[in-house]
Amino acid sequence: MLFKPIHQSYGDFSIERDPQRCIGCQVCLRQCSYGVHQYNDRLCELTQDESRCVGCHRCEALCPTGALTIRRTPSDFRENALWEPTYIKNIYKQAATGGVLLTGMGNPAPYPIYWDRMLLDASQVTNPSIDPLREPMELKTFLGCRPDALEVEYDGGVPRLKTRFTPQLELDYPLLFSAMSYGSINLNVHKGLARAAEACGILYNTGEGGLHPSLYTYGKNTIVQVASGRFGVHADYLRAGAAVEIKIGQGAKPGIGGHLPGEKIGREISLTRMIPEGSDAISPAPHHDIYSIEDLRQLIYALKEATDYEKPVFVKIAAVHNSAAIASGMVRAGADVICLDGFRGGTGAAPTMIRNNVGIPVELALASVDDRLRQEGIRNQASIVVAGGIRCSADVVKAIALGADAVYIGTAALIAVGCTLCQRCYTGKCPWGIATNDPYLAKRVHPDIAAEKLTNLVKAWGHEIQEMLGGMGINALESLRGNRDKLRAVGLHPAEMEVLGIKPAGG
Ligand code: SF4
Ligand code: SF4
Repeated sequence: MLFKPIHQSYGDFSIERDPQRCIGCQVCLRQCSYGVHQYNDRLCELTQDESRCVGCHRCEALCPTGALTIRRTPSDFRENALWEPTYIKNIYKQAATGGVLLTGMGNPAPYPIYWDRMLLDASQVTNPSIDPLREPMELKTFLGCRPDALEVEYDGGVPRLKTRFTPQLELDYPLLFSAMSYGSINLNVHKGLARAAEACGILYNTGEGGLHPSLYTYGKNTIVQVASGRFGVHADYLRAGAAVEIKIGQGAKPGIGGHLPGEKIGREISLTRMIPEGSDAISPAPHHDIYSIEDLRQLIYALKEATDYEKPVFVKIAAVHNSAAIASGMVRAGADVICLDGFRGGTGAAPTMIRNNVGIPVELALASVDDRLRQEGIRNQASIVVAGGIRCSADVVKAIALGADAVYIGTAALIAVGCTLCQRCYTGKCPWGIATNDPYLAKRVHPDIAAEKLTNLVKAWGHEIQEMLGGMGINALESLRGNRDKLRAVGLHPAEMEVLGIKPAGG
């Protein structure tokens, strides 16, 4: 007797195939990496096993006659406000497997999205708005430690700047591509990110998987990451980038490490990560040499020493309950740039319970960190970059008004390349060719096309940012940074407004 486990009986998606339109071309069968579609030779027709469908929409998008429609399965269970179907299905899965529930991408749970509860100001009558099509609008962004004051000396009566600046990154837009490791995404996507970063005058981040030899040429647009596993970290790697980032935590999985399964560690990835082919790449939860701010300082200065004090050092943490105090310690430890990764941040793989229940919204962390550093008089000593669920140019502008110097975009960048947020990155079977190292699937992303899409995205956001600035009568991003008077709250509790440091709309 055929027995189908109960957790496989309740798929999340249904597939409707219109027999009037289906021409039996089998594109769906070839495109689906989950083996959902089958061709029945005897009946000469296509069938499907819906329980395997992850809702990536690849087959639907590529069907030449539009014969397929993927829908969320209507509720399989009796209504129950407490026991929503997701909880029931998760228990079925765990009862069958005894395993941790895994997922990919960022936290999709319905927590408040503070970006949507803040509105921007605009000029009316006095302080007129500026037309960005006719007047210059400065988006140039510098990241790094700034001196407390500028000293000028006179050489034969000619003033000269005496202050020596520590290394700075210069960006043409207040945007960076987030850390995504080679291995969690494939080389084609990394090449696309690197080329787009070069074309836009911004930087991308290697993530914790090292730097493939073919990407050293993009060094001035690269942030090289040092994480707890130290994968792919060596002297040439550190010197190859324009900045070094120490990853302490990640918004999608604060407090835990990472795991890239051995089956994803092919020859090229094993060489780049400097680990044996086929072995699991497990990053420990903590850095085993960091148990205090003093230890962090030692690593920061070890990396500065290794790069001749020529590159700013970023330190990235997940946004958690006491981020402000931690950030203060990071600045005092010598970090040039602080990265705050909120709980909406994406990932290739994370335990579902951690992703959905740990960390805090980055908007609140950003406001409290910026406040704390200002109160302590050390805000100039480090830039702040925020990450974790930045969806559009308005989010960027609001983040800068709240106190950020720049933002990281990760999920938005992958969506630009084709990601449909199916959240199955951890399977290694990404049907869109992104979170996969399968050569057959990886070919679905062409580096040049990916670079073009990413470049378009950055430039489009740049235009929109200029328009929003112009509407506020501001002609340079620098004048918006930390200018919370340009934000007003809608539908927020006074306690939330207090943390964000903004007034209610109408106030
Ligand atoms: S997993 Fe994706 S490609 Fe496969 S049937 Fe579902 S939507 Fe189509
Ligand atoms: S990268 Fe691929 S597997 Fe991951 S969410 Fe996007 S489409 Fe799905």
